[in-house]
Amino acid sequence: MSQIRELLVEQLQDLVDAESQLTGALPKMAEAANHPKLKEAFEKHLLQTQGHVERLRTVFELLREQPESKPCRAITGLIEEAEETIEEGRQKEPLAADLALIAAAQKVEHYEIASYGTVRGLARQLGEMTCARLLSHTLGEEESTDFLLTAISDPLIQQAAIEDAGADVNLENVEKRAAPRRKKAEKERIAS
Ligand code: FE
Ligand code: FE
Repeated sequence: MSQIRELLVEQLQDLVDAESQLTGALPKMAEAANHPKLKEAFEKHLLQTQGHVERLRTVFELLREQPESKPCRAITGLIEEAEETIEEGRQKEPLAADLALIAAAQKVEHYEIASYGTVRGLARQLGEMTCARLLSHTLGEEESTDFLLTAISDPLIQQAAIEDAGADVNLENVEKRAAPRRKKAEKERIAS
């Protein structure tokens, strides 16, 4: 077997194990999420992850290789950390708990993004274009999940910053500060 093919098969075996471990971890993350959007994101990604396992099986079939899995210790570690995060989150404010959960989830997504980038490159090099396309599809879903998690965390970080500012928030001149914007909005309303 060529070195590249051997490496591809090894990396795919690592991914099969990673993805199947994740199908077990994502329901726990969905359960622990406080914000409904975050819960929904984890539930959606669980369905995608089940598809990733299926897609990897297809890739093994196309390559005529055994879909054996090789223990992925990196994901085992990341999931252990995520479980710790869930435990610690029970003592935290819902907002802080969600942000910590997002951090744990994005570490997983980045691991997957790196892995799928590698296997896609190796498959392309071997001229296994159908495999490369399937792996590209999964890579796209991992990237979208990462973007979605960032989109969820950004406003949560803003909200946490406002909460942290707490009593220091100065609401004395709010009316004065809002006046120009209100006038602008009124003008636009009249114009339209
Ligand atoms: Fe995945
Ligand atoms: Fe993923």
